[in-house]
Amino acid sequence: MDKYQVLKKYFGYDGFRNGQEALIDALLEGRDAFGVMPTGAGKSLCYQVPALLMEGITLVVSPLISLMKDQVGTLNAAGVHAAFINSSLTAGQYRKALELAKACRYKIIYVAPERLLLEEFVRFALQVNISMVTVDEAHCISQWGQDFRPGYLKIIEFIQLLPNRPVVSAFTATATKEVKEDILAALDLQNPQMVSTGFDRKNLFYKVSAKKDKFAEVMHYLTKHPTESGIIYCLTRKTVEEVCEKLVARGIGATRYHAGLSDAERQKNQDAFLYDVSPVMVATNAFGMGIDKSNVRFVIHYNMPKNIESYYQEAGRAGRDGEEATCILLYAPQDVVMNQFFIDKEPGNEELTQEERELVKERDKERLKQMAFYCTTNECLRDFVLRYFGEYTSNYCGKCSNCLTEFIEIDVTDAALAILECVRSCGQRFGMTVITDTLRGSRAEKLRQNGMVQNKCYGKLKDVPVYRIRQVMQYLGRTGYLFVTDEQYPVVKLTEKSPELWKGRRVLMKAAKEQARKSSGFGQKTDAGKREVDFSDVDYGLFEELRKLRMEIAKKEKMPPYIIFSDKSLKDMSAKKPKTTEEFLRVNGVGENKCRKYGEKFLAAIGAFTKKSL
Ligand code: ADP
Ligand code: ZN
Repeated sequence: MDKYQVLKKYFGYDGFRNGQEALIDALLEGRDAFGVMPTGAGKSLCYQVPALLMEGITLVVSPLISLMKDQVGTLNAAGVHAAFINSSLTAGQYRKALELAKACRYKIIYVAPERLLLEEFVRFALQVNISMVTVDEAHCISQWGQDFRPGYLKIIEFIQLLPNRPVVSAFTATATKEVKEDILAALDLQNPQMVSTGFDRKNLFYKVSAKKDKFAEVMHYLTKHPTESGIIYCLTRKTVEEVCEKLVARGIGATRYHAGLSDAERQKNQDAFLYDVSPVMVATNAFGMGIDKSNVRFVIHYNMPKNIESYYQEAGRAGRDGEEATCILLYAPQDVVMNQFFIDKEPGNEELTQEERELVKERDKERLKQMAFYCTTNECLRDFVLRYFGEYTSNYCGKCSNCLTEFIEIDVTDAALAILECVRSCGQRFGMTVITDTLRGSRAEKLRQNGMVQNKCYGKLKDVPVYRIRQVMQYLGRTGYLFVTDEQYPVVKLTEKSPELWKGRRVLMKAAKEQARKSSGFGQKTDAGKREVDFSDVDYGLFEELRKLRMEIAKKEKMPPYIIFSDKSLKDMSAKKPKTTEEFLRVNGVGENKCRKYGEKFLAAIGAFTKKSL
C-alpha cells in the first residue's frame, strides 16, 4: 500500500491538503518533521498515515485524556488498531493494554508524557520496535508557553533510552517564534522537515463587539441562529453559572462546564454537548482542549481572554469541518482589569526561579496588552492576529467586523492634546479612568480627594463623549504617543514620541461611521479556497434524514455523532446520493471500514428518501 491508498482506505479522502504531503514524505524517508498548522488543518493525518506504513509502532505523546480518547475513537472507527495509555485506565486495564501492545496489536499508541519514564512502560518500549515518536500539541514543551507541561521535558530522555532512535515528529497549532525554537531544541529534532501552513482560518468570521449589554448580544445571535451548536466562553465560574442559567430560562439548550463542577457533571455536560443534546456550551477556558467536535458553528467570548494565543485557540474551535463559522468577542474595559488581576494573583510555575517567574509575568502583561489592542483596533481583525503570529498579509480581509464597518477618518488632535496635557500636569501619576474623569469634569468624589478637580484640564473635554475620550487614549497608546504601565494599578505615562504632538503634528484616527454598516456582519460567504466538497447540490431534506440516522447509530454505539460521519460527509452523501457500495466509497470521509459498518444503513436511507421524493 502507498500513502494514497492508506488515505482512501482508512480515512476516505481523495487527496492531501496543503502541507500534509511534505511532512508525510519526510517521515516515510526516516527524517524528523515539525508541522505548525492551525486547528482543523489536518495534523493528525500527517503522522497517522506514515504510522500505518511504517513497520513498528508509533507512540503519540498527547497532553489530554479527552484528546486521546477522541483520537483513538476516530481511529478505531476507521478500522485502525489504536489504544491509549493514561491515568484514566485502572491498574488492570493498564496491564492489559501493555500486554496487547507488546503483542504488537496496536499500530498507534497514545500516551501521557508522565507515563513515558515509568518502569513498566520503559520495559515495554525496550521490547518492541518503536519506529516513530510523535509529539502532539508540542507547544506544551515550552516553559514560556501558557500550556507548559513539565512532563513533556521527559520525552527526550525517553527517546534517548531507546536502542534505536525513532523518527521524531512534532505538531502544534500555536507557535510564536520563541515557542518554535523551544520545541526544536527540547526535542532535539534532527534536520527536520519544517512545514508551517499559515495561520489563517478562512472559514472563520471575526467580530468584536463593545456593546454594554453582553447578554442581549448573545440572545440576538442565538435567536438568529437557532439550530447552531456553539461555545460561549466566560472568564469566571460565576459568569458561566449566570449566563447558562439565563439562557436555560429563555429556553435555549445550554449546558455548562468549569473546574468547580463534579467530575460526573462535567462529563455529563460535555457529552450532552458532543452529542448535540445541548447544542450550546457555556464554559470557562477549562473546556475545549481536546474537543474535536467538528460542527461548532460559533464561539462567543463573553469576556476578553488573557492573550491572543488563547483567543486564537478557543475561537479556533469553531468550524473545524471547514464550513463557515463565526467568532464573536464581547469586549468591556473591565475584562482587562480582571485579567490583570489574575496575572498578579497567579503564583507562577514552581519549577521556575523567582527571576524567571517575574519574566513570565512581564510577558503575560505584554500579551494582555496586545489582546486589548485587538479589541479596540479599527484595523482588520484577521490581519491583526496573523501579524501577531508573524504572518504579513493584506490589511483587508473583507470578513471581519472591522472590514465590514465603514470608517471615516476624524481629526482628534484637540482631544489628544488635552489628554497629553492632563497626563503631564498631574505628574503622570494616574490611570486611564482618572484622566478620563478629569477631562470630562466628572463629579466623582475620588477627583476631589486626589485634587484633580483643581487641575487645569478639569472639564476640558466635557462636550466629548466618554467613549470617544477612551478611544483616543487607546489610539494614542497603540501608536506609541502614550504608554500604560504594567503595575497593579496601571498608570498613563508620556513617551519620547509625545512631544511630536506639541510640535504641531495632527492626529487622525479612524472611527466607525455610526449606523453605516454594510451588512449585519454574520456568516459572510467569501471564497474559502478550493473546496473538498461541492455543496451546491446538497439535498437538505435528505441531509436531515441522514442526521437522524447518524444520531440513532451514535446513541446505540455510544459515540459522538461526528465520529461516525462528519457533517461534511453527510452533505456530500446528500449531494451525490450514492446507490451502490462503490459510489458510497466515493463520498468524502468514507473509508473501507465505515463503508462496511454503516454503508448498508445509509444506502437504504438514501434509497428510501429518493423513492419518497419521486
Ligand atoms: P488538527 O489536528 O490539525 O486540528 P485534524 O487532524 O483533527 O486537525 O483534522 C481536521 C479535520 O480535517 C478532520 O475531520 C480530518 O478528518 C479532516 N482532514 C484531514 N486531512 C484531510 C484531507 N486530506 N482531506 C479531507 N479531510 C481531511
Ligand atoms: Zn478583516
